[in-house]
Amino acid sequence: MSKKYKVCIIGGGIIGTAIAYNLCRLGETSVAIFEKRYLSSGATGRCGGGIRQQWSTKANVKLAMRSVKLFERYKEDIGMDIEYTQGGYLLLSYSEEEAEQFEKNVKLQREEGLNVEIISPKTVKKKYPFINTEKLVLATFCQTDGHANPHKATFGYAKAAKTMGADIFTHTEVFGIDIVNKTVKGVHTSKGFFECEIVVNAAGAWSKDVGKMANLNIPTESYRHQIFVTEPLEYFFPFMAISFSGNFYMRQALHGQFIMGQGDKDEKPGINENVTFKFEKEMARKMTRIFPFLKNLRILRHWSGEYNMSPDAQPIIGESKDIKGYYYAVGFSGHGFMLAPAVGEAVAELITFGKSIHNDISHLNTDRLSKATEIEKNVV
Ligand code: FAD
Repeated sequence: MSKKYKVCIIGGGIIGTAIAYNLCRLGETSVAIFEKRYLSSGATGRCGGGIRQQWSTKANVKLAMRSVKLFERYKEDIGMDIEYTQGGYLLLSYSEEEAEQFEKNVKLQREEGLNVEIISPKTVKKKYPFINTEKLVLATFCQTDGHANPHKATFGYAKAAKTMGADIFTHTEVFGIDIVNKTVKGVHTSKGFFECEIVVNAAGAWSKDVGKMANLNIPTESYRHQIFVTEPLEYFFPFMAISFSGNFYMRQALHGQFIMGQGDKDEKPGINENVTFKFEKEMARKMTRIFPFLKNLRILRHWSGEYNMSPDAQPIIGESKDIKGYYYAVGFSGHGFMLAPAVGEAVAELITFGKSIHNDISHLNTDRLSKATEIEKNVV
């Protein structure tokens, strides 16, 4: 196995593997992924798997729409069934102010060509009689939103990259980056030193630490998010239900289980993969009120992962202005799975051609962050 690569990617989650796959697809096969645990062991393998295009900025709508195009082609391009389902996303608003914002968002989304409906509580009740619409102000629905299995998506990208020539080192920690004359020269790992010209920080919750390895200040903080899965019911709930004002998201897996989670304002920054009974109690109380059919279901498993938050809750993607050859794709703030296909493509294009082709991601580099001050940690 080579000890020299053009590109060394730190992190074997959906972002690192999507970048590796796209680099290989563009002809750059001198690529290695270093993953300190196993593939998808970070936030990716712990996430809800939701894929949404309903955003409040044009740039995000565009990026998410490109991702959906690539998810639609995933099976054909990569040859793996990732349980991708376009069952839609139902966004539920419980506040007048948020409902007004939703109406503005829908206008903007439609301008980008997204087919989104605005639905009154009465219509929600009629279409989905199994939802308690008490206190609901407004809902929006986009049929082409959906969900997929994050483990399968990560392994699919990794396998395709490997087939094209990439090497994947699992259980291999990167603990240092060699920089000479402000230029990347290689990475120090638990399996020795690997020479390279380019390093990609795709380390998710550990992005700040991997920034420090090159003396860079990556302005991210990680916050625990808990999530659980129930016993199965016969499959009938194809969409993701989500509410920012109600602080929850929920979907039914194709095998029947309900997967759901919420944010917690009291979480402190740092890596914490434990779980609490408080979360189970709060979630169960809230969710059985809104979705009464959940009442007699038991919780089967409960786990947690980190949201790697940026100051404005938008991803931080680009090339360092200070260190030649240092790229970053971090701070996904709870949305990295859905954006990964488009981000993988854009970062690979940036590395290969010096600019992204399909989607302009220049607004996502660190330049904007001097404006954003406080970490918005409670994005669902
Ligand atoms: P990760 O998957 O965390 O991968 C980073 C990897 O880097 C890790 O595996 C880690 O072990 C490795 N690593 C770190 N440091 C080193 C090192 N020094 N050396 C080697 N390896 C290293 N997003 C959505 O789009 N939809 C959702 O429905 C959704 N739901 C979520 C629910 C929960 C509970 C959580 C926690 C997150 C959710 N997210 C969701 C967010 C999503 O999971 C993340 O944004 C996405 O998975 C980030 O992918 P990543 O590859 O950047 O990070």
